[in-house]
Amino acid sequence: MVSSQTELATSPLGSSDPRLSNGRWLRIPGPTVLHPSVVAAMQGDMVPHRSPEAAALVGRIAENLKVAHRTEQGVYVWSGTGSAGWEASIVNLLSPGDRIVVTVTGDFGDRYAKTAKTFGIDVCRLEVEWGQAVTAEMLEQAFADHGPFKAAFITHNETSTGLTNPLPALAKVARANNALVVVDAVSSAAALPLEVDEWDLDWVLSGVQKAWMCPPGLMVSAVSARAMAAAEQATFPRFFWDVRTMAAATANLTTPTTPALSLLYGLDAALIAMLDEGMEDIWLRHARLGDHVRSGLQDAGLRLLADPAYYSDSITAFFAPDSMTATEFHDRLRAESGIEIAIGQGHLAGSILRIGHMGYVEQPELDATIEAIAAVAGT
Ligand code: PLP
Repeated sequence: MVSSQTELATSPLGSSDPRLSNGRWLRIPGPTVLHPSVVAAMQGDMVPHRSPEAAALVGRIAENLKVAHRTEQGVYVWSGTGSAGWEASIVNLLSPGDRIVVTVTGDFGDRYAKTAKTFGIDVCRLEVEWGQAVTAEMLEQAFADHGPFKAAFITHNETSTGLTNPLPALAKVARANNALVVVDAVSSAAALPLEVDEWDLDWVLSGVQKAWMCPPGLMVSAVSARAMAAAEQATFPRFFWDVRTMAAATANLTTPTTPALSLLYGLDAALIAMLDEGMEDIWLRHARLGDHVRSGLQDAGLRLLADPAYYSDSITAFFAPDSMTATEFHDRLRAESGIEIAIGQGHLAGSILRIGHMGYVEQPELDATIEAIAAVAGT
């Protein structure tokens, strides 16, 4: 039986490398390593969720999330995971039969497109080979050939391929064509540059189990004034995901339903740590570490999946060597080092592996990961 967090944190997979202590063997692209202050904060007892203490918590998180998203507009937190953000953005911004364009650069763009289709949205899939990005020119062409679109749904960072789409340029095209800009920032928010107001984004969703350094269970969405106006026009039925109810509750420093208090304690602590580090410094750290992982893997003779012009600084995907499948590579790495990385998704499941380097991460644990990967690849 696991009796404590400490026991959980000291590599259940058997590594004795001190660089991999305190959960740092976990190198999948989320859930990620918890920030120690998040773990500590989450031990707190419950408080009445309509108390002054809860109001202070809700208010502080809402304000700090604005800073982290670089927006003066609203940022809201629901119990839920990243995909809940897909559904929330659809029911709040659209009506059945609306036409949208969805960038499909991998498994998550594909799922977003399918989710919209489930709701009866008329979806134009702007699809590229996995590992490639959607460019502004491609989006412009899609508007010209297949538009108009009510909204452009853009995956900022494609977790399944380790690729970052050129969001500022894509958003510019969508806005020039008068479409709402809806962004899946699940594996980019809190890791990669993200300027909600400057880039004129309308709905930016993420899940706190990625670079926010928290356990899974909260969905965060930054919502523009334009998106709030669209929510008044949208005709989908909605209750739990109604952003108008959420915005009104947040303005009153409360929540529409019983909040996931322990997770809010954790997110509060994560935000305090993040703002203490500073958003620009967080982005620079991720850029430095992304570069470090890529060159370490390439030095070990491994081939990366993504187009080099669009490498992601939060996730790296690489091909398994010819001598073994991705699953064999994964299992050997796990058995020999105690380090957990992820295999690919969809049609790339058998051929690629993915390393998460976002959130609470620094170079030593990535060096240990690269060394262990190089050892498996060299045999
Ligand atoms: N979008 C992206 C880019 C993701 O990486 C993920 C999960 O990894 C999701 C959406 C779905 O998030 P969740 O599994 O939290 O529902």
